[in-house]
Amino acid sequence: MDFIPVNEPLLDGNEKKYLCECIDSGWISSEGPFVKEFEQKMSSTVGRKYGISVSNGTAALEVAVQALGIEAGDEVIMPAFTIISCAMAVTKLGAIPVLVDSDLRTWNMNVEEIENRITDKTKAIMIVHLYGLPVEVDPIIKLAQKYNLKIIEDAAEMHGQTYHGKPCGSFGDISTFSFYPNKHVTTGEGGMVVTDDEELAERCRLLRNLCFRKDVRYVHDEISDNYRFTNLQAAVGLAQLERLEEFIKRKRAMGRYYTEKLQGIDGLLLPVEKTDYADNIYWVYGLVLDKHRKADNREVQKSLAEAGIGARTFFWCIHEQPVYKKAGLFQGEAYPNAEYLARKGLYIPSGLALTEEQMERVVDQVGRIMSKIS
Ligand SMILES: *Cc1c(COP(=O)(O)O)cnc(C)c1O
Repeated sequence: MDFIPVNEPLLDGNEKKYLCECIDSGWISSEGPFVKEFEQKMSSTVGRKYGISVSNGTAALEVAVQALGIEAGDEVIMPAFTIISCAMAVTKLGAIPVLVDSDLRTWNMNVEEIENRITDKTKAIMIVHLYGLPVEVDPIIKLAQKYNLKIIEDAAEMHGQTYHGKPCGSFGDISTFSFYPNKHVTTGEGGMVVTDDEELAERCRLLRNLCFRKDVRYVHDEISDNYRFTNLQAAVGLAQLERLEEFIKRKRAMGRYYTEKLQGIDGLLLPVEKTDYADNIYWVYGLVLDKHRKADNREVQKSLAEAGIGARTFFWCIHEQPVYKKAGLFQGEAYPNAEYLARKGLYIPSGLALTEEQMERVVDQVGRIMSKIS
């Protein structure tokens, strides 16, 4: 039987048509007209004034953090359980990630622990919405006001999600998106920074493009990278964005199907369907092994692979990353919930191209494997 990949995007809308327009017109670089159109559509989708496209979601975080003026020695609060991109955007500048443990119900950072982590070096809080449910934003905005902190919102996994009816990607000073193929809107590789602040937007445009001086070209006052986004990527993004609502509906239907079929299985924690502020959009469909299970996520991933099913383990915690241990960061720190999720969480095939037959096979195999492992 065919292997079921963990993710396969859906590209059967206008993607090909718009890509052909790029080829026919010769516009393939970042100077092409689709780039501005995509920036405008993407930012207005989340109710932001400015969108600055970049080469990927990691670059978006780097640009956003740097644009906010975070410097060496500054502290930025973020979850211990997240993708390394969040921490790298901070450590690249010589600033320090200050970590917060996870909430086992939503898998997001435990908002109640943030205030304790604030010091006189804290400059910003990074909100990272993970796996389909948003972080509880309101209390964080209050903290930011109380302590005069900036907010960076990493909405990479949140295309089409809302918090109390307001779009994710619209909170705080600056928000970022990724368009990697497992996100709800993909451009292959790609990312975007969105903000309402004109000065920040201008700063991001400089930072993504080598900080060219405005008056004289090829003269630079600052170090930055080439993080430009191409017209080809924007062509795919525009076609994807046309179908965002349909994609979200589909993701939610997939989530409901998996939950209905898997909820009877002993020793398996499933994603929460809704909270009082949002309905899950199931960026990917995650499973977490219960405390009484001895097996870890890698074992389940391996068994699923043998049964022809792709799965991925959850993120590995920031404080346990070898690269940061070597640098002497986070010594003696422990975040038990984050560590638990990193060892016991994995996700099953959840791409938009997944068929019902494939989902049936996934459900059968998960059931079979869970009845066999310790
Ligand atoms: C995917 C992702 C990123 C990074 O995006 P890339 O485009 O892969 O660089 C950042 N943050 C979160 C939460 C993500 O899921």
